[in-house]
Amino acid sequence: MCLICVEFDKQRMTIRDAQRALREMVETLEDEHVAEVRAKLREAQRITGTPDAKKP
Ligand SMILES: [Zn+2]
Repeated sequence: MCLICVEFDKQRMTIRDAQRALREMVETLEDEHVAEVRAKLREAQRITGTPDAKKP
C-alpha cells in the first residue's frame, strides 16, 4: 500500500488524480506495486467507464 492506494480506496482521489500521482511517484515505488496500482486503476476505469486521459 502507498499513498495512492490509501487515498484512492477512501475515494479521496479520482482515477485521473491517481494516474497523475502514479506517474509522479513511479520512481519511488516498487515495480511490482506500480503494476498492482496500474491494474487497480484500469479495473476501476473499466467498472466506471472512465476513458483514458487524452494526451495533449
Ligand atoms: Zn499503493
